[in-house]
Amino acid sequence: MSESAEMPLELPPTDMLYMTYEGNWLTECTAKVLSVSAHNPGEDESVAPLAICLDRTVMHAQGGGQPTDVGRLEITATGVSVDVSKVLIDRETGVATHFGTLSGKTPPRVGDAVTVKLNVSQRRILSECHTAGHVVDSAMARCGKLMEPTKAYHFLDGPYVEYKGSVPIEERDSVLQELQEAFCQLVDEGFDTKIDILSKEEADELCNRQAQNFDVNLFADKRTQQIRVVTVAGFPCPCGGTHVRSTTELKQGRWGITGLKSKKGVVRVKYGRTSSS
Ligand SMILES: [Zn+2]
Repeated sequence: MSESAEMPLELPPTDMLYMTYEGNWLTECTAKVLSVSAHNPGEDESVAPLAICLDRTVMHAQGGGQPTDVGRLEITATGVSVDVSKVLIDRETGVATHFGTLSGKTPPRVGDAVTVKLNVSQRRILSECHTAGHVVDSAMARCGKLMEPTKAYHFLDGPYVEYKGSVPIEERDSVLQELQEAFCQLVDEGFDTKIDILSKEEADELCNRQAQNFDVNLFADKRTQQIRVVTVAGFPCPCGGTHVRSTTELKQGRWGITGLKSKKGVVRVKYGRTSSS
């Protein structure tokens, strides 16, 4: 992407606070501005004119199947703010960039202190959506379908999880029904979410206890070689996203499994909000 090319090379990796269990619940933090540049939105209209790097952030950078957080940077000295519409991270350098538009006249400068504030309701719904995606994994395991997850799409416009494998056409309706029931049970049983930063060996042991369905090497942080493992509904897997505290919290949004497709060696389980109440 063009925005990574513009990033100064010497910046240290951004401390992504949501990666730890405690940090997952933070909705704001103070931070220091490390770089500010004008961004040419010509190539990607979804990103805004200012590109700002900080020493740390509470905002989730788009990736791992989860959309970006949106929010605001408030510059302490001037009271001016930047509305952040997208956060991207360079996986090689670990440097995150906040793209936003200035409301006010004075742009932030290197060294400025800022407060990073999330759009809390947006974060909440994205965390529910991502957590529900992991409940799909756990429901698959509960139904004896331990397939390798190959793609996860935790966006609100039709989320799904894909696995390597197949479900014969005559079994699809019954498997879908079993998965839907397992999903509801897992929500009702109220599992607490866990987030651990582990070595490759520890992650491998934890995630591949039931089946060798994760290659943990694919998920290791390029700099630390560590792996963040999230356990939702009792099912551990490598993950970089944000989550809600317990599966019971999905009940309020009434999440559930909505469909099952199987073709060309790919099983797609669709899920979503099954009621808007
Ligand atoms: Zn995840």
